Amino acid sequence: MSSPTVLIIGCGIAGPVLAILLKRKGYNPIVFEKVQALGDAGASLMIQPNGMKILNLIIPNRPFQTITPLQSLWHGTASGETLGHSTLPSSYVDRYTQPASGIKRSVLNLHLKTTLQEHGIPLYEGYQLENIHEHAHQVTAYFTNGESITGSFLIGCDGIKSSARKLLLSQKVGIAEGPPTFTGLVQVAGISKTPQSMAKRDISLSNWYGEGVHVVAYPISAEDISWAVTIPDTEGEDSTWRAATARTELDSLRGKLRESLSGFEDCVLEMVNTADRIISYGLFDRREVPAEQWFSDRVVLVGDAAHPTSPHLGQGANQAL
Ligand SMILES: Cc1cc2nc3c(=O)[nH]c(=O)nc-3n(C[C@H](O)[C@H](O)[C@H](O)COP(=O)(O)OP(=O)(O)OC[C@H]3O[C@@H](n4cnc5c(N)ncnc54)[C@H](O)[C@@H]3O)c2cc1C
Repeated sequence: MSSPTVLIIGCGIAGPVLAILLKRKGYNPIVFEKVQALGDAGASLMIQPNGMKILNLIIPNRPFQTITPLQSLWHGTASGETLGHSTLPSSYVDRYTQPASGIKRSVLNLHLKTTLQEHGIPLYEGYQLENIHEHAHQVTAYFTNGESITGSFLIGCDGIKSSARKLLLSQKVGIAEGPPTFTGLVQVAGISKTPQSMAKRDISLSNWYGEGVHVVAYPISAEDISWAVTIPDTEGEDSTWRAATARTELDSLRGKLRESLSGFEDCVLEMVNTADRIISYGLFDRREVPAEQWFSDRVVLVGDAAHPTSPHLGQGANQAL
């Protein structure tokens, strides 16, 4: 008997990881990704021990894990006065067998893509799911490029804007769900060389709390630090994860940030001033859907498609894993 074919929609985090684990269990996974060519997009992620345990199963040589294992958490005022400090993360390996570590999103995505290829799992880029038709023993996926394919199961790993979720909810429970809701918050993020004053600190996830402004920063390599500033805004640009690199666009984003960051510690402004790529995106959310509605006979949702999580919890990718 041939192995059951599993159609996996989305090659973000949950999709490729699930494909690799299913292949090892004897299934025949195929991954479909709407983006034409996965590349250098987005900022970074903090992978916690729960997510690291899963990455450990599928990417044995994890260069990102050994370079910057997180040692501490620091919380402070905008001007850098300490509100709290904890060395708990330095005990994660003893407690949970894995450390936490920051990683550039595109590095993780490209590692996962390479691992898919090493397992001989087909990846079709430029395939955007448009419709699903469930039969008694099979399911057919239809794509916007006119292609369709039939398999035994379909897994929607297509993130917060999931088409699989929309189709499943309308077909299974008759709920017509609209697009995600803008939270009124925008994040502006970048990657910079670690400022000298911060390089002296241990490898720490740092949070600054200002008047209506939050800044987070953590290392993603021996020299580089990833930072993100959250500010209120009236409208949020849909996240395309495209980085601004042109001088005028960068200057405009920096100008906007400098206004919001008045009174912040020098190292925060230094990170903003020295980043050579900056991205800005609105933060969106969805209503909670009970777990009984995450699946039908042949379709199931995984990751943000099922349970989108606020970036400030630092657990969305980890829960997807
Ligand atoms: C600013 C920000 C910072 C974050 N920081 C962290 C962090 O530090 N730690 C953490 O754990 N989480 C973090 N998260 C959350 C994390 O990014 C998500 O929870 C995680 O990416 C979800 O993984 P996923 O595989 O479910 O979806 P995604 O990673 O979003 O992947 C979905 C994929 O599906 C594709 N797709 C979408 N629609 C279709 C379609 N119709 N057909 C085919 N393909 C489609 C998309 O192009 C994408 O490649 C952050 C989120 C944001 C916005």
